[in-house]
Amino acid sequence: MERRNTVQKDLVLNAVKGMKSHPTADQVYNLISKDYPSIGKGTVYRNLNILAESGEIKKIEIPDGADRFDFNTSEHYHSQCIECKSVFDVNFDAIPDLEKHIKNTDNFKFISYDILFKGICSECQKNQTKEY
Ligand SMILES: [Zn+2]
Ligand SMILES: [Zn+2]
Repeated sequence: MERRNTVQKDLVLNAVKGMKSHPTADQVYNLISKDYPSIGKGTVYRNLNILAESGEIKKIEIPDGADRFDFNTSEHYHSQCIECKSVFDVNFDAIPDLEKHIKNTDNFKFISYDILFKGICSECQKNQTKEY
């Protein structure tokens, strides 16, 4: 059982590493199931969460959208295209301990934060009809 679990975990990890596009769990599952049709969706989802918890991949929570997974575990920020919902890395040095800069007057216990820039990717700009 242990061996099988490790194989499945590696399969999921390698899929995320091979997809440089911040895939959703569904996209990871779809890719793996092409080669391993017998793998269950629940197995892929479970292993994604195990890998995110152990820090081998990063989980990016998207407000009003599916979680994304990232092979790049270094501290970095993301942007999301409001048209196609693709998620990209932002070329911007992460600010260490950002929450320490907060003037905390409400005795709020800060645990973490997400920064997600929004915009329109270069592909969508080509097909853009709306003005922002
Ligand atoms: Zn786009
Ligand atoms: Zn990223």
